[in-house]
Amino acid sequence: MAGLTTAALLGRTGSHEVVVLEHAEGFGEVGYGIGLYPLGSAVFHALGSYGELARRSTTFATYEVHGPDGQLLQTVDLGALLADFGPMLGVTRADIIDVLLSSVPAGAMRFGHHAVAVQAVGGGVAVTTAHGETFEGDVAVAADGMHSALRASIFGDVQPHDTGFDAWMWWAPPGAVLPDVVAEYWGPSAFVGLYPMTRGINVAVAVPRELSPSPDADPAAIIAALQSTVAEHAPAAGAIAGLWEAGGSKPFLWPMQDVRAPDITALDDRVALCGDSGIGFLPTAGVGASNALRSAAALAYDLSLADAASAPLAVARWRQRVRKLVDKNQEDSRELAKVMMVKHGATSAVVNAVMKHAPVTMMTSSIVKSMQVPF
Ligand SMILES: Cc1cc2nc3c(=O)[nH]c(=O)nc-3n(C[C@H](O)[C@H](O)[C@H](O)COP(=O)(O)OP(=O)(O)OC[C@H]3O[C@@H](n4cnc5c(N)ncnc54)[C@H](O)[C@@H]3O)c2cc1C
Repeated sequence: MAGLTTAALLGRTGSHEVVVLEHAEGFGEVGYGIGLYPLGSAVFHALGSYGELARRSTTFATYEVHGPDGQLLQTVDLGALLADFGPMLGVTRADIIDVLLSSVPAGAMRFGHHAVAVQAVGGGVAVTTAHGETFEGDVAVAADGMHSALRASIFGDVQPHDTGFDAWMWWAPPGAVLPDVVAEYWGPSAFVGLYPMTRGINVAVAVPRELSPSPDADPAAIIAALQSTVAEHAPAAGAIAGLWEAGGSKPFLWPMQDVRAPDITALDDRVALCGDSGIGFLPTAGVGASNALRSAAALAYDLSLADAASAPLAVARWRQRVRKLVDKNQEDSRELAKVMMVKHGATSAVVNAVMKHAPVTMMTSSIVKSMQVPF
């Protein structure tokens, strides 16, 4: 998302040549949904494709938190919370990528190119691919996601921040929740989130890693194992009809870890680590994609003002613009993880008691702030 956004916004005037190295052979079905705050969806206004994105999206009007027995602990009116900015959208990752791709300059995409390293050469940088090809430029944007090879080539291994939970995602048929309501169930050792999208309900189930099924099991066995854990620890969610069939889609495993690179610029500000490669996100606040898109738009803007000589200054300016805001949003996601994914019944009881009185928006206020201040 960060790479395509940078390329689309920077490449559109033709003043700056962009090349996108993508290790996949093409973007197919990637199988899960994304919640997009206006922080991220606003970028599509700049691209001229907001209408197309909205056509493929649902609107999340209400966010509900339930206890393990189904008791409603908290309701957030997202429409009111975000009234000044725009709606929160629910959209598949595949649709976001597809809409972004339509704005990337013709000829910029190089599919099947796995980047392995970036290094300084002369007055610029060179990115090397697994096939031994080298691409030189004034700057490189390392937007290769959470498991970034380019980050590793600069900083070595970065220890992930690990919650100890695994999340599993799949699509269930519509019907279990209203089409504009996000419903979550917070139980001890079992988190269940239901996110309605145009192609069905994106179900997310998080359990402690020791209770997580083997990814080698067949899809039906994975879902049956998760349902049994949820039925024990969050029975209200375990009993919701329709959730526990993946309709043929393979559940997607997402270990609940994130990373923070030592810095988001490198090699004398010739490299920008944009999106999850620099500051990665847990999905708990639903703000990772929004930050990737917004950071990339900010980077494209700063680079659009630069030429070859001033490009490092632009990258340094971008760092100054985004670092604190994105760090804070990552912190919020980590704090939320601590209350959404708890192991023990006693802790869960305390969290649920607090949730009745302390609005969850207390923990996400920096996300709203990021839409009010220069980013
Ligand atoms: C299951 C799941 C659910 C999520 N839900 C939400 C949500 O609800 N809300 C939200 O805001 N965020 C969500 N996120 C997070 C969001 O998807 C990421 O924060 C966002 O995609 C980060 O964008 P990015 O551009 O940094 O990385 P990505 O979108 O991951 O893009 C990285 C790209 O780099 C390519 N690549 C990887 N390695 C290489 C290489 N070595 N060479 C060349 N190409 C490479 C990949 O194929 C990919 O196309 C979710 C993430 C997951 C995994």
